[in-house]
Amino acid sequence: MENNNNNNSHDQYGRKVMKDVSLQELRERLVEFSRVRGWDQYHSPRNLLLALVGEVGELSEIFQWKGEVARGLPNWTSDDKEHLEEELSDVLLYLVQLADVCGLDLGQAALTKIVKNAQKYPVTKPT
Ligand SMILES: [Mg+2]
Repeated sequence: MENNNNNNSHDQYGRKVMKDVSLQELRERLVEFSRVRGWDQYHSPRNLLLALVGEVGELSEIFQWKGEVARGLPNWTSDDKEHLEEELSDVLLYLVQLADVCGLDLGQAALTKIVKNAQKYPVTKPT
């Protein structure tokens, strides 16, 4: 959630909010990144899925054995948070690439899935 009380926008965790980044921009950057390195030949759906799963494993290792972690990670060092950002990014980037090589529009698919989830789990009043 964004706080617009002054000229500097910050999110609920006090971080300065940067510009929105679209999935389309990420997709285009990844296509170019792979193209100039000649890596397209390796980016089959299966290979990208396996790479994604590997990155999910790296993400999981960050939380492994830590016990419950408070929202906003108040007790984490900046290095720990940077590591988390990197692994979350690895997961996102492989997910975007996987959807792309499958010919899917991930953003639209996600929006559609939110609508389906809302229909599956309608809002009920607390008891
Ligand atoms: Mg990684």
